[in-house]
Amino acid sequence: MKIGILSRKATIYSTNSLVEAATKRGHEVSVIDPLLCYMDITSHHPAIHYKGKKLEGFDAIIPRIGASITFYGTAVVRQFEMMGVYSVNESVAISRSRDKLRSLQLLARKGIGLPVTGFAHSTKFTDDLISIVGGAPLVIKMIEGTQGIGVVLAETKKAAQSVIQALRSLDANILVQEFIKESSGTDIRCWVIGSKVVATMKRQGPEGEFRSNLHRGGQATNIKITPEERSTAVRAAKIMGLHVAGVDLLRSNHGPVIMEVNSSPGLKGIEAVTGLDIAGKVIDYIEENASPGKTTTIGKG
Ligand code: ADP
Ligand code: MG
Repeated sequence: MKIGILSRKATIYSTNSLVEAATKRGHEVSVIDPLLCYMDITSHHPAIHYKGKKLEGFDAIIPRIGASITFYGTAVVRQFEMMGVYSVNESVAISRSRDKLRSLQLLARKGIGLPVTGFAHSTKFTDDLISIVGGAPLVIKMIEGTQGIGVVLAETKKAAQSVIQALRSLDANILVQEFIKESSGTDIRCWVIGSKVVATMKRQGPEGEFRSNLHRGGQATNIKITPEERSTAVRAAKIMGLHVAGVDLLRSNHGPVIMEVNSSPGLKGIEAVTGLDIAGKVIDYIEENASPGKTTTIGKG
């Protein structure tokens, strides 16, 4: 097959892993920087141009769209979909996963366990919003944050009020969320491919840090998950429409709760901890599932 990996740099660990796995399986692979793609969106023959040439003959693409380029990156993925090229994660699913509010609403609609979460535009009723999520301590997060940046633990009601007010005065969109204290700074990353959890790891934040993100100094170790956690992770990825996803969950007193569902989960941590060839599993999945024009959300924005 001819496979394109949409990624800004070939030297990124995850991108490189995917290139190696695809090459090993005899595929022709190219890394395409989505920001250097330009497109003819009006013609009857939708096309993408790259470095002066038309991109042609691709059987599948693997989008690895960073959070900072979601807007343009998903437009490029959509264009591939218009051209009938199979994308392992579709543009609509990627856009959903980038918006924490939209994601949580989609998951809530299907009865997935979530931390109690509130959202408001105005700061007029902040006190009421705080009590809806059970009062302090509570977590405040920016809707489009990533790598733990923009996630704050407010220990007291006063602190929560001032943080909410400060962020709203900057026009930042935020969620307020019940603090899952019992997870003690750990979360579980479930790597989902298709309808299977193929790998899991536990991440623990450093001493005194409630955020478990590896980018914030978290440490990853092996973990076995329960059947309930497994089915929650698979269902969450399916609801988002992601075929490859990093589903993060916390162990709470009221069962597993979803933190977020990532559409470009990193390979480095999970491959190191589990010793598994996750990139190989992504390519295997594509081999089994890619076919022209298979996009399921085409035309759905
Ligand atoms: P980001 O997209 O920046 O990673 P997350 O929503 O995943 O944002 O939050 C980052 C981390 O902070 C989580 O992995 C978890 O360890 C911790 N965290 C976030 N929300 C809560 C919460 N409601 N209760 C307990 N810990 C939380
Ligand atoms: Mg996260």
